[in-house]
Amino acid sequence: MAQKKIALACSACGSRNYTIGANPNRTERLEVKKFCKFCGEHTLHRETR
Ligand SMILES: [Zn+2]
Repeated sequence: MAQKKIALACSACGSRNYTIGANPNRTERLEVKKFCKFCGEHTLHRETR
């Protein structure tokens, strides 16, 4: 069975910088602070669908 992946997109520039394995038990939308190499700083990254 293939693992589901979801992308995390920078909320400032929209770049999809990270992919993570989806957790089937998690229902809320994921929002994490991560480093964006395009923005050059830590920005809020949101889960994309
Ligand atoms: Zn960015």
